[in-house]
Amino acid sequence: MGAAEDAAPRRVAGAALDADGVARPSRAVATIDAAAIARNCAQLCAHLGASKLCAVVKADAYGHGAATAAGAALSGGAQWLAVATAQEALSLRADGLDQVPILVMGALTDAELALTVGAGADVVVWSERQVQEAAEAAAVAGSVARLHVKLDTGMGRLGTRDSAEATRAVGAALATHGVALVGLMTHFATADERDDDGFFGEQLAAFDRFVGPIKAEHPQTLVHAANSAAVLRERRAHFDMARCGIAVYGMDPFGSDPDDHGLEPALAWHSYVAAVKQCRVGQSAGYGRRFIAQRDTWLGVLPLGYGDGFRRAFSDNAEVLIDGCRVPVVGTVSMDNITVDLGPDAAGRGLVGAAATLIGRQGSERITAEELARRAGTINYEITCGISGRVPRIPGHGRKAVR
Ligand SMILES: *Cc1c(COP(=O)(O)O)cnc(C)c1O
Repeated sequence: MGAAEDAAPRRVAGAALDADGVARPSRAVATIDAAAIARNCAQLCAHLGASKLCAVVKADAYGHGAATAAGAALSGGAQWLAVATAQEALSLRADGLDQVPILVMGALTDAELALTVGAGADVVVWSERQVQEAAEAAAVAGSVARLHVKLDTGMGRLGTRDSAEATRAVGAALATHGVALVGLMTHFATADERDDDGFFGEQLAAFDRFVGPIKAEHPQTLVHAANSAAVLRERRAHFDMARCGIAVYGMDPFGSDPDDHGLEPALAWHSYVAAVKQCRVGQSAGYGRRFIAQRDTWLGVLPLGYGDGFRRAFSDNAEVLIDGCRVPVVGTVSMDNITVDLGPDAAGRGLVGAAATLIGRQGSERITAEELARRAGTINYEITCGISGRVPRIPGHGRKAVR
């Protein structure tokens, strides 16, 4: 039996889908369910009512692939896109998204400001000086710089804490040739903490005080504050538009279960069993001999590791789905391989070549990014962002289990 299982792994197809849209085993692949992204956006739009949805597709859409995610989000009802960097905005424009408004939320160097304004993307400012710089960039580009003035109501990152300074920036944006005041914004620090001692409410109140008089005089100004957590938590934070990222991808902003909010995870992550080998009591696997078999068992080797974004923190601290069952990751996660304990009865089950699911479903079992995040002491955002460029993103069907 051992000899058969030890035989060279049978060749498995590369990243490909069969007729049912099911991913065939491949070294390591992330399948992206664009329809799930669209449905999540439709769900968020229904929740937002009259407020618009801005889909945040920064960091390659939280690891999902920006072009795919942006197209799916727009088809699901999002009317805006947001990114963090000038380059991300340029990529979306190059992908043919030349009409949709794109907000670049991050800080910009002079060169990045010129690129952003040149691409017709919106920039965030909070001082009269920045309004002037945007006007200069617009003059060079022969376009209009579209501005969102940011008040820092407590996040402590970009924006000014001084509402008078923000109001002066608004005045400058209204008065300066070559720029347009498009929006007023802030960002919450604790929207995802439901027991946040009222800080969320304080930020909301400070923002209300800032936008009230400006909105009264300039009703066309787009007011936006909420991220995913704020949208799900507090209607008063919806304003004219909400900037949602994590929920768009079907992950839970509160880190528990996306099902709680009717969200569908859009990303699944699969590998396969490249080798099955017997491990006798006392034999070890992996660097440092961290795993030493306490019983005779069979190990499966999956050809991916932290070089793919399967973190070293998952050493002895994660499960994967194989043949519809949860099996534990044992020993140290290497750069290119992990080992799992298939159990003493694995021989003869023909597991060489079987699909292994790191995130996603097999049969009735499911592993979420939230589960992996809990195990690694991080957040779901970092799990999907951390899936490396070595892992191809291919279209997939999240609801259908891989077998
Ligand atoms: C990333 C980001 C968002 C989206 O946050 P989610 O929690 O993913 O919904 C919204 N606004 C700003 C300023 C951001 O940086």
